[in-house]
Amino acid sequence: MRPDKLAIIIPCFNEEEVISYTIDELDILMDIMIDEGLISAASQICFVDDGSKDKTLDIIEKTCQNNTRFSLIKLSNNFGQQNAMIAGMFNVNADIYVTIDADLQDDHMTITDMVQKYHDGCEIVYGVRNKRETDTFIKKITAILFYKLMNKIGVKLIYNHSEFRLLSRIAVEKLKTYREKNIFLRGIIPLIGLKSDCVYYDRLLRPAGKSKYSVLKLFSVAWTGITSFSTFPLRLITLTGLLTFLISIVIIIYSLFSFYTHKSIKGWTSIIMTASFFSGMIILSLGIIGEYIAKVFIEVKNRPLYHIEKTLNIK
Ligand code: UDP
Ligand code: MG
Repeated sequence: MRPDKLAIIIPCFNEEEVISYTIDELDILMDIMIDEGLISAASQICFVDDGSKDKTLDIIEKTCQNNTRFSLIKLSNNFGQQNAMIAGMFNVNADIYVTIDADLQDDHMTITDMVQKYHDGCEIVYGVRNKRETDTFIKKITAILFYKLMNKIGVKLIYNHSEFRLLSRIAVEKLKTYREKNIFLRGIIPLIGLKSDCVYYDRLLRPAGKSKYSVLKLFSVAWTGITSFSTFPLRLITLTGLLTFLISIVIIIYSLFSFYTHKSIKGWTSIIMTASFFSGMIILSLGIIGEYIAKVFIEVKNRPLYHIEKTLNIK
């Protein structure tokens, strides 16, 4: 086994109640993994402070001063969990990267299994929770609906996987080639491909502090997920336009029929014909514009067309 350098990346936003516990737990875990020869002694625990307003930063700074195993990246403002994790992965030099939430709700002891899978040849290892017993009712329902919807509109997601994952240096290099700004890592990572696997764990309760995600913030993440990965909402306008247009033809035929059989009052036929015809045309036109916007959206994201995993005899 190679003694590869591990970096555990922890995004933190107002985590003063829990951060000391996290520091102690991860320190112990690092010792265990180094003793077992899974990782090198130069491995790092990197906290990314995402603009905390409480004592989180003070606690991390003091820890870094006493122990060089710990490091800090302080962001100048609250940029959100996704950006904080990216800042960590793109600014720390390591062979293996593991991202985990500061509250250690995702059982950190599973990191050992993740690293083991990395040594078995995996470039990406997803942490997948077994059950959602510790989640609130709203979170459970919205999560199930979200996965179902994403699946329907063709976005590949790992079911019950959030932001607890291992990425090898190679996987992080590939991730850097995705230049989009509306980041939704759960959608991008499966696009990278490479050899991957899952480790399963029971999600624990938050030991202290409150969730940083309100229902509104959860919806905002879900909306980023949908709109960064799918042009389906735009396609829906085209489909609605086509349907309205077809219905308008039926309405026009009916109104002409009423006109010639003298069933309609004066003026009704012309009003209903123009109203239904132009409604159909307007929605259809919006849909066609949407189709072009969808193309621009895909071009602007400038995603890599492919990733080469291996070549042989290429000169
Ligand atoms: N977080 C962050 N920036 C934010 C919101 C959250 O860095 O704007 C971090 C937070 O400190 C934690 C992780 O993201 O480490 C997940 O947050 P939380 O545990 O509150 O989410 P939940 O478990 O409720 O989904
Ligand atoms: Mg949490």
